[in-house]
Parts: sequence; C-alpha cells; structure tokens
Amino acid sequence: VKYHIDTIPVWDALRLNGECMLCSLRRKQELLSAERYLGGSVMEPDVRIAVNKAGFCQRHQALLYTQSNRLGHALMMHTHLKETHDRLRPLLDKAESAARGKRRVSAGMHRSRSQANSQLQEAARQMEQLINQCALCEGLDTAMGAYTHTLLYMYKTDPDFKRAFECSKGVCLKDASALMMMAEEVLSGNTLSDFVCALSRLTHENLERAEGEVEWFTLKADYRNADKPWGTSRDALERTVNRLRGWCIGAEPNLRDH
Ligand SMILES: [Zn+2]
Ligand SMILES: [Zn+2]
Repeated sequence: VKYHIDTIPVWDALRLNGECMLCSLRRKQELLSAERYLGGSVMEPDVRIAVNKAGFCQRHQALLYTQSNRLGHALMMHTHLKETHDRLRPLLDKAESAARGKRRVSAGMHRSRSQANSQLQEAARQMEQLINQCALCEGLDTAMGAYTHTLLYMYKTDPDFKRAFECSKGVCLKDASALMMMAEEVLSGNTLSDFVCALSRLTHENLERAEGEVEWFTLKADYRNADKPWGTSRDALERTVNRLRGWCIGAEPNLRDH
C-alpha cells in the first residue's frame, strides 16, 4: 500500500506528550470527519455513496447527534434509510420463503427442514452485515493505517523522531498491536528490532505506571487517605481505560492541559 507521508500531524501528536499519540490523531480525525459529514461533504458523490450504503455505527451516530445539526443528520439518514430498505427487501423475502418452506415440510423430512433453518439463518446473517457497517469507522481505519505507516516511516528515517518516540509515553494497547502488525512492512534489521524493543519497553513501563496510579486512585477512597495528595492519580481511571482500549473516556486527548 502506498501512503502519502505527512509528518507534521504525527510530530504535533507526539509533542502533546499524552498517553497515546495515535489516539490523539484518531480523535482529531474522527471529529473532523463528523464535522465534514454534516458540513455538506455528503454532497460529494463518493462520500454520498459510502454514507448511503454503510450509514454509521451507534457510537458515530451519537457523535453526529452531538454536533447540533439535526437537519444535516436527517438528510443523510433519509437517503441511507431508503437504500437500506432496498437492500433489506430481498433478505426479508428470503427469510419469509424459508419460514414458509419450513411450514410445508412434514415432520419426517428432517433434511429440508434443516435446509430451511439454514436459509433463515443466512438471511439473518446478511441482515446483520447490512447494519454492521459505518462510513466514519471505515474512513477512520484508512486514515489510521496511513498514520501508523507514517509513524514507522519516521522512526526509520528521522533520528530526532526515533529519539523522541523512545522518550514518549508510548501508545495504547490497541495502537501497539497495530504498530507491531505493520512493523515488518516498513522496518527491517536493526531498526525493526530497535523499534519492537522500544515499543515493548514503553508498554511495560507505562502499564506499570498506570497500575500504580489507578491503585492510588482506589486507595484514596479510604478515609485514612483522604488528606493525602492525589499525585497524578486524579484521572487514573480514565487514563487506564484509554491505555487498555484506546481513547474513549475522559478529557479530550488533544487538549494540552489535563
Ligand atoms: Zn491509542
Ligand atoms: Zn463508526
């Protein structure tokens, strides 16, 4: 896969010195996408085709809904609903005919009964696939693939970035696995082993730090510790969840002070 290399956003995300630079990039991209969908980019033919076909997952419906543009949201949902209904028609027909076929078969005809069962299940599976799509998730995955690739490329080609990455707080487990998955595509030899060892060390160190911080968070609930200082544990729950699963709760990852 060929990616356009844009190093500036990756440097910016690293300089935030947050829990995960890829989560910062993902969140920025996600908010930008939500804004673009509601800001008329659905008028672009390829975007419109993608939205009409896939719609949005629950999380992204909720995000779009918070953008205070119910009309823009409704316009997208109207065309997506029509297309979904068209795609649903043959599946519902298939389910109905499977169920009718099942009623016709006599008690002794086990084979065609199980055939009708599997046809019904097949229709149900296709229905599930139909609603398990999200245009925003798909766009986000593509963008994150490009950023993950760029990060590895910068590690290989820019000694300043290599040093800065090795002094950072690393990345969340979701992004650590994505980096590891792609590492051999971009890196080889010593650079590959340097990177994997650095990523592994950063992961250990930061999980250990999170363990200590979240433990102190729980101990602070004890009245005997009420007067003791919080240290860095005030938002330890949020940072622990975000490190384990990728950013999803607490302060926005692109705010400088949290
Ligand atoms: Zn992350
Ligand atoms: Zn989504």
